[in-house]
This record gives sequence, C-alpha cells and structure tokens, in this order.
Amino acid sequence: MQITKTKEAFQSSLLLGALLQAGVRKAPQQQIHYRDQLSFTYRQLNTRVQQLAHVLTAQGVTVGQTVAVMDWDSHRYLECFFAVPMLGAVLHTINVRLSPEQILYTINHAEDDVLLVNSEFLPVLESIWSRIETVKQVIVLTDEPASTTSIATVGEYEALLAEAPANFVFPEFDENTRATTFYTTGTTGLPKGVYFSHRQLVMHTLAMRSATAGVGHGRFNGDDVYMPMTPMFHVHAWGAPLVATLLGVKQVYPGRYEPATLLQLIEQHQVTFTHCVPTILQMLLSAAGEQQFKGLKMIIGGAALTESLAVRALQQGIDVFTGYGMSETCPILTLSYLQPHMQSWSLEEQAVIRCKTGVPIDFVSLRIVDEQMQDVPHDGQAQGEIVVRSPWLTQSYLKDEEGSKQLWAGGWLHTGDLAVIDAQGYVKITDRIKDVIKTGGEWVSSLEVENILLRHPQIQECAVIGVPDAKWGERPLAVLVGAEQRPEGTELVAFMQTYVEKGLLSKYGIPDRFIWAAEIPKTSVGKLNKKLMREQYI
Ligand code: AMP
Repeated sequence: MQITKTKEAFQSSLLLGALLQAGVRKAPQQQIHYRDQLSFTYRQLNTRVQQLAHVLTAQGVTVGQTVAVMDWDSHRYLECFFAVPMLGAVLHTINVRLSPEQILYTINHAEDDVLLVNSEFLPVLESIWSRIETVKQVIVLTDEPASTTSIATVGEYEALLAEAPANFVFPEFDENTRATTFYTTGTTGLPKGVYFSHRQLVMHTLAMRSATAGVGHGRFNGDDVYMPMTPMFHVHAWGAPLVATLLGVKQVYPGRYEPATLLQLIEQHQVTFTHCVPTILQMLLSAAGEQQFKGLKMIIGGAALTESLAVRALQQGIDVFTGYGMSETCPILTLSYLQPHMQSWSLEEQAVIRCKTGVPIDFVSLRIVDEQMQDVPHDGQAQGEIVVRSPWLTQSYLKDEEGSKQLWAGGWLHTGDLAVIDAQGYVKITDRIKDVIKTGGEWVSSLEVENILLRHPQIQECAVIGVPDAKWGERPLAVLVGAEQRPEGTELVAFMQTYVEKGLLSKYGIPDRFIWAAEIPKTSVGKLNKKLMREQYI
C-alpha cells in the first residue's frame, strides 16, 4: 500500500544543494584553498555558488540546459559541482585529456549550451570551435591576469562573480533530474556518455560517507583535510569533494597535478585524506624521495594497486587501500579496508588485503557470475564477471540504446571486469573482458589504435593489447602482420604521431612496442584471440 500524504505535506527531494548547506552549517569558517592563489571560507563558498548561479542565469542557463567545464581541479570546479545542478541544469565535466576530436564529439553529443574553459585549453577549443554546434556562451577561467582568444567570450570567471549579487534562491525540483554527465571511452573509440541524477549523487555521497565513517584506518571524518588527486572531470573526483563538503572539512584544490606542488600542498596544509590512480602515487613517491607522510590516508582506484607499490607507500607512512568502480557506477562500488584483527599484521601481509578490490559498500549488490548469470563459488578461485545493482548506477548510455541494453543485460550492470571472491567477501579483479587499455588512469581503445595502424601501407593485419607497465599500469603493444618490408618502430611512432597531431588520437595511445609476427592468433569464430596473445607476449 502506498503511504498516505496530507495535502499540506511537503515532500523533500534529495537535491545536491542539501550537501552544501550541511557543510556550511557545520563549519562556516572552515577554509577552502586553491593552490597558493586563493583561500575562502565555506560561508564564502555558499555566497560564491549563489553568485555563479546569477552569472549563469544571466547567460540564459535554466532547467534542462547543459553547462560544460574544462578545468583542472579547482575551487571553481567545486562551485560548478553545486551551482550548475542546483539550477536544474546539467554539468558536463569534459575530460581534458581526450584528443581534440573526442572533446569535440562529447561537446556536440552532450549538446552543451555554455562552456567554462581554463585559458590553458583555449588553443584546443579554438582548433575545434568552428565545428561546435550548440555552445552559445563561453566563460574563461584563468589564473593569469590576462588571456587572449579569437573566440568571443562573456568574460572572466572571477570578474563576473565579483559583479554578481550575493543572494540567489535556487528552485526545488524532482530529485530524479539529471545533474551531471560525462564521457568514458568505449571499445569502439567513440566516447560513451553516462549521467547521474541529484538523487543518485546524494545517495552515493551518503553511502560513501557511511562507508568511510568511524574509527579504524583509512576513515574520512570531520577533522580531516581533503585534497583530490583524481581529476574532477573523472566521475566527480570519485564523489569525494561532495563528501568533503558535507563533512565541512578543510579542502585543498591543487590545479594541474605537478608532483612538487602536490607534495608542497600536502605538507603545507597537513592533508590527511586523498585518492588517486596508482600512476599518481608512483609519481608522488618518486618526487618525495625519503620524505615521510604523516597521517595521510589514500584510496587507490582506477587500476589495480600492486603489493610492491602498496608496501612502499606504507613504509613512507601512507595509509593506502583500494577502491573500485567505474564511470558507469558513479563510481564507488567497493573499498578494501583491513578488518580490526588485520591491523597488527606485517606491512607485507596487510598489503595483500589492501590490494584486493574490496568489499561492496552499503547499498551495492555485487555478484560474480558465469556466462549463464549463475553465481560462481566464493572460494577465491572461480572467476566470473562482476555485475552490480545499486541506487547510483547510470541508467543508460546517453543516446545509445544498443550499448545501454548490453550494459544492463539481464537487469544487472555489466562491468566487463573479471574477478574472484573469497569466503570473507573480498573481491579481487583478475582480468577484463572489455577490449580497452588503461594507461595512467586514462583509456585507450584497442580498436581505435588498430584502425590507425591498418592505414599504414605495410601493415596487413594487427592487434593491440595492453601489457603491464610499472609506471603507467598498462601500455599498448601492437602485434603486426605485413609485407616483407617491415618499417621500424620509430617509423611507426612517427606515422601514429601524425594522427595525434590531427587530434584523432591521444598521445598516450601510441604503442611502446611493435612486434612483427607471421600470423595473429584467432578464436574459433575468427576474432582476434587477445587472451592467447596476452599469454604469448606478456
Ligand atoms: P573508469 O570508467 O575510467 O573509471 O574505469 C573503470 C575501470 O577501471 C573498471 O571497470 C576496471 O576495469 C578498472 N578499475 C577501476 N578500479 C580498479 C581497481 N581497484 N582494480 C583494478 N581495476 C580497476
């Protein structure tokens, strides 16, 4: 039976604005820092969000419109996280690491109306500007006093905010309204759009808050100091800035990730909670030398954390542990905390647990299934695909019915990740079904690289696989079949570089190694047998 509602009863929606209000109420004087350039309080954050809402409204932004951002991790991004969705508009966080052609595709596909762009990316924007279809206004974000561009802009962010009034009344609307959208690299090379509602983001924030609350290692509480080291364009920096704001903790935004700046900010602000991909942790440890980190807790996700890297981080005082999720899942699905009795174990023994993929957080139903969707035994041996349900999973790919059906086949979201699960409930990813390569936290579509290689006159067949790499996690390796005159690797790199220059390929998509072979192994149905190739070439 449905609950009875009196006519006068107000039904509160789960809207993102409530997270901001909670933080401002708890800690109005708490500080938010952007590099060494700007600091302000939560109370001022609240005012700035309202000023931004005025600025955007003046540019015609209303319910249902899309506002895109191209920026590094900044206070401005945090303000957009709130102001844009609180207007009932959609925030499109553009992945600035995509190739210019992919950026163009995502802007047109998302039908962006207004674009906020860091002056550093103006040359990229200028190169695709004539082919952008829907953007009507551009606002410049800059740390420099002046920046010039051939694009007609509305003005500079800080100057526009300074002129805007300080009070804005945000509308109430349905919690199922779309709040954010962004793109992840599909296996075909064309980015796929995912999207999340206010309700989903609030639920994800509360579940993450509950999973990380309390005592024990790796927890995130009101006395922490937070700094992201995962881009805010990538799944809302794993949703952590929203949790940080809800908690009312001190926040530090580092801009572009430069190891020296990251280290300096961690030291200066005594940062205690952060998150990143393994490659960033590697960079940080290399830059730190023997430096010890005091009380720094760090979620590692986006790619598997290796035990050797975990031990190195632990030895330098970093409380490092795994988180797992994907763009489609908002993202957090699991965290790999030690259980209380494990906390006295040696660092090497702890690393085994910390490097597992983890245990599902509250409200996540996670199964590991065979091809018939039957659960595999929980014995740490039997491998299957991770499929999930939770309140915060993308409900489809934007304007992609076929891809959405595949993603949600049988009513479970298919991650494309293969894993085992042990009797204690810890999941461990063992392989990947999707034909993509993850290098330094960014995707490369094998198919896209293969298509470019096949345009070389001396290459008749090719297959690209990901091979493990100590620094980048994975790097592409190309296996080639061709004519007798086999070009050298340097010539092939130069050939692929021309596609990077045309904006068609990201520079990290160029394989490090090219191997000529007599033939490429195929499966019984004639597909490239990448599993066998990985066994042969890794
Ligand atoms: P993205 O959509 O770019 O966030 O990438 C998500 C994918 O990265 C997952 O489907 C996994 O393949 C991989 N991934 C994320 N976290 C982990 C992890 N902790 N261990 C291993 N692979 C991971």
